[in-house]
Amino acid sequence: MSQPLNNLTRMPVVFLGHGSPMTAIDENQFVSGFRNLSGSIPRPEAILCISAHWNTRGTKVTAMKNPRTIHDFGGFPQALYEVQYPAPGDPALAEKVRGLLTPVFVEPDETWGLDHGAWSVIKHMYPDADVPVVQLSIDYTRPAIYHYNLVQKLGALRDNGILIIGSGNIVHNLRLVDFQNLNNDDYGFDWARDARDIINQYLINGDHEALIFYEKLPPSVQLAIPSPDHYLPLIYTLGLKQSGDEVSLFNDKLVGGSLSMTSVKLG
Ligand code: ZN
Repeated sequence: MSQPLNNLTRMPVVFLGHGSPMTAIDENQFVSGFRNLSGSIPRPEAILCISAHWNTRGTKVTAMKNPRTIHDFGGFPQALYEVQYPAPGDPALAEKVRGLLTPVFVEPDETWGLDHGAWSVIKHMYPDADVPVVQLSIDYTRPAIYHYNLVQKLGALRDNGILIIGSGNIVHNLRLVDFQNLNNDDYGFDWARDARDIINQYLINGDHEALIFYEKLPPSVQLAIPSPDHYLPLIYTLGLKQSGDEVSLFNDKLVGGSLSMTSVKLG
């Protein structure tokens, strides 16, 4: 059971490694990790999710009352396409986000919904779909430092019962995935382990500068982050760290050789 939220509670902020879209319907240790997380934190008033799968020019926020479940993937079993996650939206939260991010213009969006970066993980945390979910897009034209600075303006939401979730994957090289070993427990290539260990150390040490300017990190990290889309949600999570937040890692395993499920809780 979730703990009740009182006025003095600051919500943690999390990064969730979502992995394959099959995470939505699989029963495995990672899904258990998401359930353990929701069971150990206060029940949020609403969720604001920054998903690796919503990249836009400029920044948008979902503003509809009832976001649709988007099946933004191909070639998976029919059962996955039948999943619906009918969590309500929260237009008031969307408006609050727009206000907090001023002077950056954030476009209220009525067309997106919940992509699988959001619903494939949130569905395990709140299976009754009774916590409103809003998504904030990632402006793909901007570097990591921009996102790190931008999200700091949303820090107050943590004191208002909002759970902010970054959903991506830290080690994420789809071109090199060994699909035969996608369900093989902690199966990672040497470079992927090396990259995971380097980044985990910076996470634990709280060295955000090294993580923001990841292009300067060793070649193994460059292989782990061939494009920024799945890494930037981690930067959003880090930008919300406040002094006194404890850093804890969970689901810290590799799958398919070149993907990590490593998830991070701050606070
Ligand atoms: Zn993904």
